[in-house]
Amino acid sequence: MSEPQSPPDETLDPLSELLELSAALGAHLEAVQRSGAVGLPPASAEAWQALERSSRGAPPAGAPSAASREPQAAPRVGTRPAAAPRAGAPPAAAAPPGAPALSGATPRATAPPAVAAPAPAPSGSPEQAPRARAEGLAVLADRVRDCQKCGLARTRTQTVFARGTGTSGLCFVGEGPGADEDAQGFPFVGKAGQLLDRMIEAMGFSRDEVYVCNIVKCRPPDNRKPEPEEMSQCVPYLAEQLALVEPQVIVALGATAVQGLLGATGGITRLRGNWRLYQGKIPVMPTFHPAYLLRTPSAKREVWDDLQAVLRQMGRPTPTRS
Ligand code: SF4
Repeated sequence: MSEPQSPPDETLDPLSELLELSAALGAHLEAVQRSGAVGLPPASAEAWQALERSSRGAPPAGAPSAASREPQAAPRVGTRPAAAPRAGAPPAAAAPPGAPALSGATPRATAPPAVAAPAPAPSGSPEQAPRARAEGLAVLADRVRDCQKCGLARTRTQTVFARGTGTSGLCFVGEGPGADEDAQGFPFVGKAGQLLDRMIEAMGFSRDEVYVCNIVKCRPPDNRKPEPEEMSQCVPYLAEQLALVEPQVIVALGATAVQGLLGATGGITRLRGNWRLYQGKIPVMPTFHPAYLLRTPSAKREVWDDLQAVLRQMGRPTPTRS
């Protein structure tokens, strides 16, 4: 007769054996409860007594250790498990220094950049107060009419403020009044103005819905170019005009207009056709002055290219040139 492989422990009496079984049962029940199971009966009194003894460091002989009873990373009831990453989602990028920690949040794959809410339309905008805008322009025209800030006031017949409403969003800015404009009190009414009107019509606008004005409001003698001092004195009026009209796009006619609007100097041949920004927000397209086109008709091709770029910028159709 062979000896048994695991001889019974003859040192255990029946009571100790019962306590050992109770402790094991209690540990099992605790582990089941910690696993999130509900509806289980409470452990027996003996089991809890055995567990209390084991927690005091006096486990019954043969009882499993506290460490072996402790469930491994069992989630607590009521605790939402961490969200698993979405299939196909890229790994989370490291947070930049100073960025707040995202606890438990699944990072979005392509978080859009924050977009500032659009600023409310200023008073006098076409949407809110067209009448207030017209009144503001009328008040400004009255101020300009009496202006004596530079020497051009001594030789003018009258000031030449603007023409058109600007409701199209398009604004043309030229250099200054000529003889016809000085006589009639409106900008671009001579031969160059008639050519500008044909350009406006070819773009698909009516004459009156385009705002037209100049860098200086008084005619320089002999149609000379305005002096820098004369321009600097008069440009604040232009700034007020544009703030009221709020054009979508400005077309600068000639090098003096580009200089007065943007401070950029240089030949218009180099400047034209390249977008600039007025006060960092309004697109400006420099192009040739209509008076130059009267002398150089071959340059109409470049001007038409520039005006088509303006139409594209405004989201308007670009008609083919007849
Ligand atoms: S050009 Fe301008 S600044 Fe000079 S007097 Fe005329 S309105 Fe005044």
